[in-house]
Amino acid sequence: MGELSELFSPERIAVVGATEREGSVGQAIMENLLESFAGDVVPVNPSHEEVFGIPALDDIADASADLAVVVVPPKIAVDVVREAGEAGVRNVVVITAGFGETGSDGAAREQDLIEVAERYDIDLVGPNSLGIMSTPVGMNATFGPENATTGRMSFMSQSGAFITAVLDWANDQGIGFKDVVSLGNKAVLDESDFVEEWGDDDATDVIIGYLEGIDDGQAFIETAREVTRETPIVLVKSGRTDAGAQAASSHTGTIAGSDQAYEAGLEQAGVIRAESVQELFDAARVLESQPLPDTDDVAVITNAGGPGVMSTDAIGDSRLSMASFTEATLDAFSEALPAEGNIYNPVDIVGDADNERFRDALDVALGDDNVGSAIVLSCPTAVLDYERLAADTVELQAKHEKPVAACFMGGERVEPAAAALADAGIPNYFDPARAVKGLDALSRFRDISEREYQPPTTFDVDRERAREILSSVEGREDTRLGVEAMGLLDAYGIETPAGEIVDAPADALDVAERIDGDVVMKIVSPDILHKSDIGGVKVGVPDEEVYDAYEDLVSRARNYQPDATIIGVQVQEMVDLDDGVETIVGMNRDPQFGPLLLFGLGGIFVETLEDTTFRVAPVSEPEAEAMTREIDAAPLLRGARGREPADVAGVVETIQRLSQLVTDFPAILELDINPLVATPDGVEAVDVRLTVDPDQL
Ligand code: ADP
Ligand code: MG
Repeated sequence: MGELSELFSPERIAVVGATEREGSVGQAIMENLLESFAGDVVPVNPSHEEVFGIPALDDIADASADLAVVVVPPKIAVDVVREAGEAGVRNVVVITAGFGETGSDGAAREQDLIEVAERYDIDLVGPNSLGIMSTPVGMNATFGPENATTGRMSFMSQSGAFITAVLDWANDQGIGFKDVVSLGNKAVLDESDFVEEWGDDDATDVIIGYLEGIDDGQAFIETAREVTRETPIVLVKSGRTDAGAQAASSHTGTIAGSDQAYEAGLEQAGVIRAESVQELFDAARVLESQPLPDTDDVAVITNAGGPGVMSTDAIGDSRLSMASFTEATLDAFSEALPAEGNIYNPVDIVGDADNERFRDALDVALGDDNVGSAIVLSCPTAVLDYERLAADTVELQAKHEKPVAACFMGGERVEPAAAALADAGIPNYFDPARAVKGLDALSRFRDISEREYQPPTTFDVDRERAREILSSVEGREDTRLGVEAMGLLDAYGIETPAGEIVDAPADALDVAERIDGDVVMKIVSPDILHKSDIGGVKVGVPDEEVYDAYEDLVSRARNYQPDATIIGVQVQEMVDLDDGVETIVGMNRDPQFGPLLLFGLGGIFVETLEDTTFRVAPVSEPEAEAMTREIDAAPLLRGARGREPADVAGVVETIQRLSQLVTDFPAILELDINPLVATPDGVEAVDVRLTVDPDQL
């Protein structure tokens, strides 16, 4: 049991604002509690003598309750919670709406509520909540029309209405719950608190949730990654639209929207993200009842060729694969199956298969060490009894202790068999793709629970020098920096080519002469963010052309924007692009998750190709390494088509060093290294762009 165990197992509940008034929230909660709760229910309402035959108290102070449910109007709700706190009540559910969701008055009221909760150390759910349930003590402290049945999933939702809909459906499906929480405005307790609580709760096997947002992404990742070592978390996160993608001046800022942050953050937290309610419960049910597979190799046993192919396709689209059987298994199948059958996977035991043939085939397949899980896939036939097949499936699943999914196809005739399967925790689906998704979730959770989290590496860096460079924006209206901030990368040990910024053609020539071979010249101006777009980058300039190139770059900048501030021209050593891959390493700050790192294929086409991947910083070495493997262009880095492999280790280190930089300096709002050129000999950051908030330095 966790720290919130008292919230879910009170002995005496006070309902402040209890009433018998038809259609009111106070009435609905009283009725629900009186119908369900094993302990005492105490109505508190100074304008009633009694409510539903129970003497009503004037004051929460006299209730000696260990949980208060508050349904009074918003204007007095904060006072009521304060009185509860003074009376020693440590658990409060505020049903009352009219707080942060309603404008500035409400927001101020919510702030007061938070202060009161902090002062009296109250575990507070809501406000604006449907309420909470906990089936072991029969507590339905909600005003919804449905009560949950007993089960081992705990469920949190940011939408109260959604809870009502889910319970209605779940009760039909025989899905039960341990705890249910309507999070409301999450003024005090939020998703991280409940994840932590249920992670410690022996009566919760699976945590599920519907979230519209996560307030403190970093805290959530930390909590959830601990919990998911043992307890699976499956979440639906709604709202895939990009709120974060406006007003960004970096490539990373343009590409990184809030959904990328959620995708990365939930992944790092070990959360399985469901795309729909159906997926949420499909995954939750198998995670609740089925063992985890040792391998990802699936055996499909079927009496119908077509559906067998459908399941093969679905397995091909998933992280799973079709098992290849051992010789012993193939021999057994050859002996047992008719000549027109298929002894290879999917195993076709043919349409005339009776229950015995089905049973034997499944027994052999599950007994094969090469098989991690199985799908029993069947169409109705005259010789097959579905209920017997269900019983055999249940028995063999238990015997072999491997996950099994059932696809007994059909309508009404499947129902008794499906019910028997469900009782034993084996889901039955019409659609093989759903069965595959269920097994896929088991495999994912096995990997998540086995993850080794490594702390991020701390590199030896020159933090003071970095701070000085960032401080150069202080007092300026424009707080963006370009290649004039290359020293920032250098201070954090990120390789940059030799180069200098000069403000006269003669100086440019001086620098060029000191650099071996041709040079690259770039206009340096805070008003010109994408230098190539205006012809502000000249690659491969021989010394004799440096003078003219300088004049030309400046005049292009003037043509583009006559009043542009021109710092000068950067003269930079050439990096060999023939052997190199242009990558991008960047960061954009997400309001919920903080620094979001991007890695991808770089150069001037980043936004066109959008071959990118994301992680919330700080990242460990394995996480940075994973980023370099996740992009489509990953084979390019590793030497595709006879090319020499690039210095991937250098890229991985650069990602980590950037991760450290943006973690050390919250003042960096967004940053692009584009390109970071990766060659066989090393990596070079040839361009940088960032925006700084001097107030945070
Ligand atoms: P911007 O992104 O503002 O257009 P960059 O400095 O990134 O300017 O230069 C644009 C492109 O020029 C790079 O993507 C790269 O292809 C090439 N380039 C820039 N600097 C160098 C260099 N030092 N060596 C080789 N190519 C370079
Ligand atoms: Mg660039």
